[in-house]
Amino acid sequence: MQTFQIHHPKTTSEAIHIAEASPACRFLAGGTTLVDLMKLDVEQPQQIVDISRLPLALVEQNADGGLTIGAMVRNSDLANHPLVLQYYPVLSQALLSGASPQLRNMATTGGNLLQRTRCVYFRDTAAICNKRNPGSGCAAISGFNRNLAILGTSDHCIASNPSDMNVALTALEATIHVQGNAESRIIPIADFYTLPGNTPHRETVLEAGELITHVKLAAPLPGTRSIYLKLRDRASFEFALVSAAVALVVNGNHINYARVALGGVGCRPWRSPEAEAVLTGAAPSSDTFMRAATAATREAIPRSGNGFKIELVKRCLIQALRSLTSSPSLFARSD
Ligand code: SF4
Repeated sequence: MQTFQIHHPKTTSEAIHIAEASPACRFLAGGTTLVDLMKLDVEQPQQIVDISRLPLALVEQNADGGLTIGAMVRNSDLANHPLVLQYYPVLSQALLSGASPQLRNMATTGGNLLQRTRCVYFRDTAAICNKRNPGSGCAAISGFNRNLAILGTSDHCIASNPSDMNVALTALEATIHVQGNAESRIIPIADFYTLPGNTPHRETVLEAGELITHVKLAAPLPGTRSIYLKLRDRASFEFALVSAAVALVVNGNHINYARVALGGVGCRPWRSPEAEAVLTGAAPSSDTFMRAATAATREAIPRSGNGFKIELVKRCLIQALRSLTSSPSLFARSD
């Protein structure tokens, strides 16, 4: 690990001011990604701004029935918050499916949004990797890519976003609130992550020095049911091979509202407007679900070791849809 200077600002403004003054600076929240990568010399910040003591750790219900989640809210606290359990079960399930209890006790909402890929070459400084070292090449395209993406990839990078929380937040259409020295911004999560293209080292639209302060969720529509289904090699402490976050409102024999996001398959948490278009207005049936799953994967590009994900994510989405429409009593509702 390289040596660095650490700062302990008392205010958000102070933290941003320090970060903007130093391009080789990182914010430290729970440390569950950053410290790992610093030990591997993948991250070599010269300045660390410790934001763990900033007043950003509250979950609050908004006047309109939505939720404001501070960037420093720990994953465990968020997953078990009564309002999240009641109104956003998909988020609670996603959080509890990730990592281990110890890591969830440390990891934060803001940090999880910025979780880095688990591509093995990204974490190995002896390997070529365009994300870590722009222009060096991509070892994964012809190498070990079983856990990497099939949607949104480029010839320069096929890394998948590893977070479970981010998939649920995408289905919930969260907004990311960030603060810089000059201005504050509200960024819909659909616009927050960039695709790799020929600049895979850039992963979000955040500018240098901008700090995520909180995340907002809209009030769920009455009758919303939601679920997060994750498929992986072992039952705990494992990243998703594929996952599906789904929120539905079903009235009578019609799906009135559908939001679908997929995990483990995209270079970013993968919202599927194609699946949503198939589902909205249709009757919940095996045929509808199969057509939605097919639409969601139509643009998939398999690589040497991850072609199985196309079928697996289709089955994952279909099972999530079946669960929501066949056993409503099993899932929390917002009405
Ligand atoms: Fe690096 Fe992306 Fe290629 Fe992995 S997939 S080696 S992160 S460029």
